[in-house]
Amino acid sequence: MRAAAGGVGGILILCLLSAAATLDFKYHHTEELEKYLRGVHAAHPSLTHLHSIGRSVEGRVQVPDMGTNETGLHLIELENPFVTPGDEEGAKMKDEAKEGRDLWVLVLGRFPTHHKIGIPEFKYVANMHGDETVGREILLHLIDFLVTSYGRDPVITRLLNNTRVHIMPTMNPDGFEATKVPDCYYTRGRYNRNGADLNRNFPDAFENNSANIQPETQAVMDWIKNETFVLSANLHGGALVASYTFDNGNPVTGSLKGYSRSPDDDVFIHLAKTYSSNHASMYKGTGCDNRQTFPGGITNGYSWYQLEGGMQDYNYVWGQCFEITLELSCCKYPPADQLEKFWRDNKVALIEYIKQVHLGVKGQVTDKNGNPIPDAIVEVKGRPHVCPYRTNEQGEYFLLLLPGTYVINATVPGFKSMLKTVEIPDNTGNFSALKQDFSFPEVSDKIRSRVASCPKTPLYQELTRASAAVKPTVHVLVLMTVTLVIFK
Ligand SMILES: [Zn+2]
Repeated sequence: MRAAAGGVGGILILCLLSAAATLDFKYHHTEELEKYLRGVHAAHPSLTHLHSIGRSVEGRVQVPDMGTNETGLHLIELENPFVTPGDEEGAKMKDEAKEGRDLWVLVLGRFPTHHKIGIPEFKYVANMHGDETVGREILLHLIDFLVTSYGRDPVITRLLNNTRVHIMPTMNPDGFEATKVPDCYYTRGRYNRNGADLNRNFPDAFENNSANIQPETQAVMDWIKNETFVLSANLHGGALVASYTFDNGNPVTGSLKGYSRSPDDDVFIHLAKTYSSNHASMYKGTGCDNRQTFPGGITNGYSWYQLEGGMQDYNYVWGQCFEITLELSCCKYPPADQLEKFWRDNKVALIEYIKQVHLGVKGQVTDKNGNPIPDAIVEVKGRPHVCPYRTNEQGEYFLLLLPGTYVINATVPGFKSMLKTVEIPDNTGNFSALKQDFSFPEVSDKIRSRVASCPKTPLYQELTRASAAVKPTVHVLVLMTVTLVIFK
């Protein structure tokens, strides 16, 4: 019995290894995608960690239930209303869809299961629009490349020893499955099962977003809250450009000039250019047709077209994470035989972009005994975030900055702010940002346990009222952008 079990186990391991070793250029539907991710984890158990951050909608029904929770939504599971009794195929669908689909994340790194002090967290999220499919597949190939290069390629080995990389191939698995056949243009698969556009579904820094927060969105918001993400990209299709925050704006951020500038505009331009210049053709900026060009292959999100409730602004304002939006294919859902070329076109850019998580400065804020101080505010002079960036549970901060001289300001309530001037080199090649710690005199537990949170209300709204500017350009912008709103 024992020998037989061992034999079966051995065969199973062999199967898993071979599944992990060969990754075809084709579309992986839910079952195959899960099988692939499980296979990779089984073949590389100490380098990877596989978990689901939540579940999609399919098979569940949302009932407005104001007052139950922050989102005003209460989720219950009901019989699938789209299935007629006795319909075998329908019954199978119901079974599959009973509790939604898992939102899988594969984490790669030397310490894949948990955060380590000093090691920044990076993420890639694809397929939040279910009909934009290239990102979903190239992230699987990125996983394949990373796990097979670790221990062989010195750059990838150092990258994964010094970075924790989170990869979510699909944020909208229901939308992907709803898109039956490859189609270059917009389809209903863009939306989640409730018909919501997930890239309009986040709290917005500029206006009240009345959209009901969807389970997929909530899962990502919780994930962002629970990890110390520093850098991220969000993969889309339907255009060829790297777009950066802000997507929304007001006169304070420059909307009257058609450009919504964040305090870290220089860093965002660098990040977007890093991707476009390492991509096979994005840097040319020719876009997808003659009507639309993007110098250098990049654009400010708002300059392209304004949108509310987008994920990249949410990451930057509330998640302390710099995120850009990558539009990777003119055709949203191209035929599978083009996937190999898409992987080749993006491979270098995907790796170079991850390295940027080591830009700038990082460190710990502690008391004089070395105890970490969470929720201390650490900001750079001259570039205040509307919701100030704070240290995590371990008292850590990470600030992405281009090489240069900066004054870093650390603040703990009840103490005088501590200022330090730092000279930041380009450290991305060393896989470690400049280290600068702050040590405060003894801080009482009372102060340390003070809960700091950033309100979900539109943070820039007050600033607009203060400037009380009229918005004559709004109608013009609406007219200009109405035909573009199906991309990001
Ligand atoms: Zn999109």
